[in-house]
Amino acid sequence: MLRLDEAVALALKGVTALPAERVGLERALARVLAETAQAPRDLPPWDNSAMDGFALQAADTASGLTQLTVLETILAGGVPRQTVTSGACARIMTGAPLPAGADAVVMVEDTDGGASGVVTVRGVVQPGQHVRYSGEDVRAGEPVLRAGVTLGAAELGMLAAMGFPSVMVRQRPRVAVLSTGDEVVEPGFPLGFGQIWSSNTVALMAMITEAGGEPVHCGVAPDDAAGLQAALARCQNAELILTTGGVSMGEADLMKAALSDGLRFHKVAVQPGKPVALGRLFGKPTFGLPGNPVSCLVTFQQLVRPVIRAMLGLSRPFSPVIEAVLTAPIRKRPGRALLARARLHRGDDGAVHATPARSQSSGAMSGMVEADGLVILPLEAGDAAAGETVRVQVLRWRFMDRAEPGYWREGAEAEAPYGSSAPSSGEDDACC
Ligand code: AMP
Ligand code: MG
Repeated sequence: MLRLDEAVALALKGVTALPAERVGLERALARVLAETAQAPRDLPPWDNSAMDGFALQAADTASGLTQLTVLETILAGGVPRQTVTSGACARIMTGAPLPAGADAVVMVEDTDGGASGVVTVRGVVQPGQHVRYSGEDVRAGEPVLRAGVTLGAAELGMLAAMGFPSVMVRQRPRVAVLSTGDEVVEPGFPLGFGQIWSSNTVALMAMITEAGGEPVHCGVAPDDAAGLQAALARCQNAELILTTGGVSMGEADLMKAALSDGLRFHKVAVQPGKPVALGRLFGKPTFGLPGNPVSCLVTFQQLVRPVIRAMLGLSRPFSPVIEAVLTAPIRKRPGRALLARARLHRGDDGAVHATPARSQSSGAMSGMVEADGLVILPLEAGDAAAGETVRVQVLRWRFMDRAEPGYWREGAEAEAPYGSSAPSSGEDDACC
C-alpha cells in the first residue's frame, strides 16, 4: 500500500500556483502576495519630529540651560518656512517635517513651553535626538514584502504606508465539495430512518476556507452511477474537486470507478483515512475522501490542504509539527501510519503535553472536536508509551490560549503569575 508521504508527493506533483489578481487592501487579509512589493519612496519621506517640542541646533544646548527664540510653529502636515539658526528654534509637533538648520528636537516637557516667544530648554540635547530620518523605516527600492508572504494586519498597514491602495495576490482556488451517499441529508432537512446529516460538507468547506481556498457547495450525490455522474458535473468549474464517501470497498462505493481514468491512488497506509483516492475529472485534480467524518477531515489535512496551499504559491504548504510529551499510551501495530487525535496543553515543566482524545474512532466527531493536533506515529512504529516524546501536527493553536503562563498584562507577575488571576477560556475547557 502507498505510504502517506508518497501519496502527499503524488498529490503535489504538477501543482502550480494559480494566476494573480488585484484586490483592494481592505479585502486582502490572509491573501498571499503574488509579487514582491518594493518601496516606491523612502519611509518616512522626509526627516520629521518624533515628539511635540522644539526643533533646534543641539550644539546650542551645551551649557545645560538655554534660551532660544521661537521662529514659528510647524504642525504635522505643515511646511517649515524658516531656517533654524544658532539661538533660534521652531515649535514642532510629532510627524511635522524638521526645518532646515535644525538637527535635533527637545520635547516640550524639557522646556518651559516657550509661550512668550522665547523658550528655555533644560538639559543638553544630543544631535539627532527625537528626529525620525527619511528612509529610516524603509528605503526607496527596498523589497519590503516578498512574494509568497501571507498578508496580515502589519503587512497591510505597510502596503498602505507605502501608498498602495490595492495589491496583486494569488487567486484563491475554488474547491468543489460533493458529498455522496443515499443516507446523507443536508442539515435543515428531516431525516428518514437510517439517514444522517452531512457533517463532512460544512466541515470541509470550513477547512478549505481556513487553508485559503474558496469552497463551492455541490450538494449530495446518490449512490447510483448516473446520479453520481450528474452530480459530479456540478463540480467542473472548480480548480480542485473533493468528494466524500463511496470510496471504500462497499457495494455502493462508486468513486473509484468514477475516477478510474486518471486514478493515481485509491488506498494509503494511514489510519484514519485508508480509503482515499486521487484522480482527475474534467482535467482537475479530484480527491475521493473517505465518508467517515474523522477520516475525511484528517485526509483533507494531509493531502488536500497542501495542494490548496501550493496553488496559493506558498513555498511551505505543510502544517507545522511540534514535539510533545504523551500523557497516556497509544496502541498501534506496525504497517500503517497512525494520526491520533490529541488534546494539547502546556505542562508545568513548560513542555507541550499531548493527551489522546477519548474516542479515536474514525466516525466520532467528538474526537475531532477535542483535538488540537494529530500525534504522528509512523508506519513502522509500534505502541507509544506514556512519557514518550512524539511529533504532533498542530491543527489549531487554541492550546496556546489555554496555556499558563500564556497571558500577560501589566502587573500580573506581581499578583499570581500562573494562577487564578489569568482569565480562563471557558468554552474551550467545557469540552474536556
Ligand atoms: P462510505 O465511505 O460512503 O461507505 O461512508 C462511510 C461512513 O461515513 C458511513 O457511515 C457514512 O454514512 C458516513 N458518511 C458518508 N458521507 C458522510 C457525510 N457527508 N457526513 C457524515 N458522514 C458521512
Ligand atoms: Mg457511502
